[in-house]
Parts: sequence; C-alpha cells; structure tokens
Amino acid sequence: MGPGPVNADPRVLRAMSAQLIGQYDPAMTAYMNETMELYRGVFRTSNAATLLVDGTSRAGIEAAIVSLVAPGDRVLVPIFGRFGHLLAEIAGRAGAEVHTREIEWGGVFTSAAIEQAIVEVKPALLAVVHGDTSTTVAQPLDELGEICERHGVLFYTDVTASLGGNAFEMDAWGLDAATAGLQKCLGGPSGSSPISLSPKAVARIEARKSVEAGIRAEGDAVRDDPIRSNYFDLAMILDYWGEKRLNHHTEATSMLYGARECARLLVEEGMDAAIERHRLHGAAMAQGVAALGLRIFGDRAHRMNNVVGVFIPDGVDGDRVRTALLEDFAIEIGTSFGPLHGKIWRIGTMGFNARKDAVLTTLAALEQVLRAEGHRLTAGAGVGAARDVYAEAVA
Ligand SMILES: *Cc1c(COP(=O)(O)O)cnc(C)c1O
Repeated sequence: MGPGPVNADPRVLRAMSAQLIGQYDPAMTAYMNETMELYRGVFRTSNAATLLVDGTSRAGIEAAIVSLVAPGDRVLVPIFGRFGHLLAEIAGRAGAEVHTREIEWGGVFTSAAIEQAIVEVKPALLAVVHGDTSTTVAQPLDELGEICERHGVLFYTDVTASLGGNAFEMDAWGLDAATAGLQKCLGGPSGSSPISLSPKAVARIEARKSVEAGIRAEGDAVRDDPIRSNYFDLAMILDYWGEKRLNHHTEATSMLYGARECARLLVEEGMDAAIERHRLHGAAMAQGVAALGLRIFGDRAHRMNNVVGVFIPDGVDGDRVRTALLEDFAIEIGTSFGPLHGKIWRIGTMGFNARKDAVLTTLAALEQVLRAEGHRLTAGAGVGAARDVYAEAVA
C-alpha cells in the first residue's frame, strides 16, 4: 500500500507467463497493434503514435525529451516535487537550455504562473509532471494546452503516477507528448512505458530522423546531428511500431503481454469507472487516517486519488511504524523524499490495491501499530470512517 510499485493484478502476471514468439510473428505484430489501440483508450487520444517504450517510466521520459529536444533548445520545467527535478535533469543531459520555476512541495502552479514563465522563457518545450507521487498532488493541465498552442510551445507531461486513477485527457487538454509506467494505477510491474505523441510531436521527431547504417535503404535520412540516443530514438522506435516494421531493439515480449493486459483491464472496466474506483478508495483511506487522528499533507483541492500523504505525529517513530506494518501485517507503506523525508508517510490505494478489503485491513493494522507507539486514538475509528465513506457511496 505504498506509492508504487504495488501488487500487480493477477491477470497481468498470468499474461506475462505466456510463451515468447518472434518479433515478426503475425501474432506478435497484431499484439503490438492491439496494444497501441488499447493505450489510445487509456490516454484518451486518437494519436496514431501511441506505443510502448521498453524500460521503466523513466525510459519513456528520457525517450520523449531526448527525441523532442535538440541541444540548445529551451525547455521550461515547473517543479513542484521530485519528478520535476528529474525532468529538468534529463532535459539538461539532452543538451537543452533548461529553465525551471519552483514552488514548495505540496502545492501546484496556477496556469497564469506557467503562462508568465512561458512568456519570459520562450521555450520550445514545456515539460511538467501531472501527478507527482513525491508530494501526492496533481498539477492541473487542462488549461495549459491552449496556452502552449498560443505561444507555439510543445507540451509534454509525465503521467506515470496519475494515469488510470485520475482524470487525464491527452487530446482534450492539448498534450503533444505523455509518458507513463505500469506500476502505479495500471496494475502491472515496472518495466514498460506507454507513450503517446501528437502529430505535431511526431513531425518534430521525424525532422530529426537518421536511419542506422546497417539497415539503411536508398533515400533514407542520414543526419550529422541525430537524436542523441539510439535506444530512445523515437523516430526509430516509431518505424519499428509503424507500418515499416524497421528493426530496432527486440520488443520486450513479456512486458508487452503485461502492458497489453493492464490496458485491457482498464478499457474493460471503463476509464471513468477506474478513475471513480480510485477516487472512492482514496477517499476512504484519507477519511480513515484522519479519523485515527493523523493530519493529511498537501493542497486538498489538488490531491491525487491514489496516494495520500500523512504527517507522522510527534513522538511516533515513522520507520518503526513502517517496519511493524511490514513485519507483522505484510503491509508496506511509503516513506518520503527530499524536504518531506521523515515528515510524512505516503499510503497508496492504486491499481490492484484500490480495493475495499485492502483499505480496511491497512487501517486496522495501522491503528494497532500507532497504539503501540503511544499515539492516542479512538478504537476502531479509522475502519469506521472508511466504512462510512463506502456506505455513502452506495446510498
Ligand atoms: C513513480 C513515478 C515515476 C517512476 O519512474 P520509474 O522509472 O518507473 O521508476 C516516474 N514519474 C512519476 C511522476 C512517478 O510518480
């Protein structure tokens, strides 16, 4: 019950144990096409360029940034948590001239503040995290697409932590690139990064295309300033996933099975229903911990559905609580990074673990462990408050 990874859905684990097939087996290419279509549903997009990058979420981030950004391009990164720093770091390594804006962890930027920064910096790319598990809040993105469009800026977001559990609209919000991972609300293991690119993003990437010598044909593009990574060259990866099926890496077959099953689960459930499930179980967990006398971290209005930050009360040893939960109850909750280290726990309700029994069992266990720490609480209050949330939802 941490901020991810969490238990995978058993259907995903079963899918991943299927036998391997060759990369050009018609069944394999059909799975690839089917996976693209399923993720269009998950990202809510009609983007043809919707596919998987092999590697954890960070692989998708790195592929998007290194492929979209040429050395010397200006990139604007509004930072409100750990993963904003990561976007800035990766853009810097890609040779970008990186401009950051920072606010205190737990809050989000106003659209006006981001537009102001765009006017000041005139970036080629705005790179911003959607939900940041390090702070448990999600940056509203719905107004930023129109702003980017008006200023001629490409718009990229990392939706690893939020996708599938919080509203996200790739096309309606005007995103040019979005990348994710399986180990949060998608109910899978880390190791595959779903990504979607708008036609405008694809045009930018194609303009930088350079085909590898060993597979180059007459007329294929060769550039002396190609994308600064081979593995994460999205122009090459698009040629592999697209009609040309031009060989690049060997698609990570078992991860493809897993990623496909994650998307099948969500599409079968319906994206709206999946988001509502995360909202409900997240609300039950938040009400439950509050009823145990714990204070909730971060901007209430922008809290993510799938993870709650909880202040560690005075006199309670945060690590001892986490250890007791793990050893006595086999329940893991999260610690925190950077400025929040030692100050808050992070408790997740996502993917396969966005379930009533998981929420109630965690609250019951937490009550016992807190009691042993001398924290004053009302017996049964946490489980009771969560059950009230469920009862209201049914009524
Ligand atoms: C959890 C998380 C990641 C994880 O990246 P990995 O490479 O899969 O470890 C990335 N971005 C955000 C916003 C996250 O919350």
